Amino acid sequence: MRKTLISRFVKYWMVLLACLTITPAHAASPEFTDEADVVVIGAGSSGLSATMTLLQGGVKKIIVLEQNPFPGGTSNVAEGVLGVESRMQRDRYLGPPMLTKDMVFKREMNYTHWKGNARLMRKFINMSGATINWLQDMGVPFEEVSQTTFDGVRTWHIVHEHGKGLIKVLFGKAKQSPNVKIMMETPATRLIANENNDVVGVAAKGKKGEIRIKAKSVIVATGGFADNPELVKKYVGNAYAGSVANFGKVGFGLTQLQALGAKTEGLGTLENSAVYDKRKAKMGAPNLVDLEFDALGQQPNNIMVNKNGERFCDELIANNFVLQANAVERQPDHFAWVIFDENLRKHYVHSGIDAGMGVIVPIGTKLEKLNGAIDKYIAAGDRNVYAAESIEELADKIKVPADTLKKTIATYNKAASVNKDEEFAKDPHFMSPLTGKLYAMRLVLSYLVTVGGVSTDLDMRPIRPDGKTIGGVYVVGSDVGGLYGDSYGLDSPGTTFGFAVNSGRIAALHFLESYK
Ligand SMILES: Cc1cc2nc3c(=O)[nH]c(=O)nc-3n(C[C@H](O)[C@H](O)[C@H](O)COP(=O)(O)OP(=O)(O)OC[C@H]3O[C@@H](n4cnc5c(N)ncnc54)[C@H](O)[C@@H]3O)c2cc1C
Repeated sequence: MRKTLISRFVKYWMVLLACLTITPAHAASPEFTDEADVVVIGAGSSGLSATMTLLQGGVKKIIVLEQNPFPGGTSNVAEGVLGVESRMQRDRYLGPPMLTKDMVFKREMNYTHWKGNARLMRKFINMSGATINWLQDMGVPFEEVSQTTFDGVRTWHIVHEHGKGLIKVLFGKAKQSPNVKIMMETPATRLIANENNDVVGVAAKGKKGEIRIKAKSVIVATGGFADNPELVKKYVGNAYAGSVANFGKVGFGLTQLQALGAKTEGLGTLENSAVYDKRKAKMGAPNLVDLEFDALGQQPNNIMVNKNGERFCDELIANNFVLQANAVERQPDHFAWVIFDENLRKHYVHSGIDAGMGVIVPIGTKLEKLNGAIDKYIAAGDRNVYAAESIEELADKIKVPADTLKKTIATYNKAASVNKDEEFAKDPHFMSPLTGKLYAMRLVLSYLVTVGGVSTDLDMRPIRPDGKTIGGVYVVGSDVGGLYGDSYGLDSPGTTFGFAVNSGRIAALHFLESYK
């Protein structure tokens, strides 16, 4: 079943890649086969939020093109949407004066060292609370407002069934409307532009051959380039093993708009993380045992060492998986060993984890699936997890210098016993001497989505290097770059999902201003 699904996606990926590499964006005088007010490319959260806004604004003919046989893209697996000053926050005493738009804006800008697009961030945060209310009014079922790091704020509006729950509502409503034509398994293959390189339509691979749709405007919502290893290598480098749940997202928006002269920003920035299994990083949705392994890798009580057997960070940063991945990326060969002992293993299984992996494996979860899985994986010869009765034996198994590992653990144990980590100032609350049976688990680098892309104005119109907009087109969601500087923000969680939904709305609202 999984194999069939994967081969299906590989097929789509290949078709799309072929289209993108051989076809330029510009095509003179094409014969159109269909016409719409707006074509939305991509039925993820950004595309569907744009579609619903257009529909509510009275647009009569909207065509949605989706390459996959199902809607939702990566948005299906996202847990929560950023919102500030929403009704839900007010009702939980989480609104002003406790949390305001001003506070979150400043935190985001400081987190990204003001490298991000401040005006766009401000616009997004200012409307984010109202957008949560808008989604709720349409029937999107939110469960709670949460945070994801110890020192983060509670902006994360968790959707029941996660992103799938949001997509179900928006897609269901769009599908019911006679004003919306949804074309599944119909990948857009190029933007059609006029002699000024402004967009006038879209070509797509229809079930019976190429279709060319003339449109007053096109909204590009194709979710970035996470599933295009060549582009990731080009813009990010070689350190990353792969991404999770990004099937077929090969960078349509980026490459097509670049071909029309769009400026780009932040292409080297990822929503990055460290995971235990290289195989998973390359494939689709991980299973529950794998997720518990990932959660184990983010526990502040562990230590992390590099291939030389040296600690390299305050392990509390593992609670912010972007920071953890940044620190791992700096290490030789870009991987790390997470080391813990039998006491910690029992603690995770019987008392529960001290830091959640988002709400997928919430804080306090008893890693019961892990119990047994570790031994099973070791017995099966998995090269990502090892156990040993001594430091020397462990060093031998994971191929790090035994002397260095012994010194690393001795220094750490001494620091734990005097409650003072001279090396990385780790909070002693999360330090205990590592003794007896030891375990090591390999962490490699992965990413959830790409967050670099096309530069826009404040209405989500792509801009050229001279600041002029490209006509006839908007770009939204993970196709947009420049919001995050060099590190994706987990401080105010829900930013990419939140930006997807809000940028879709912004583009559609701007189109409505001149729609007759
Ligand atoms: C495990 C996981 C958890 C996450 N959790 C969170 C979270 O809690 N909060 C958060 O803020 N972010 C989270 N994210 C990131 C979030 O999922 C994305 O930022 C968000 O979904 C982006 O939405 P989008 O609409 O831009 O892209 P998508 O939802 O991926 O939609 C893009 C759509 O375009 C389609 N498409 C692509 N190319 C074409 C083409 N040529 N023609 C037609 N269709 C095309 C794709 O098939 C897809 O359906 C998470 C990501 C992962 C992997």
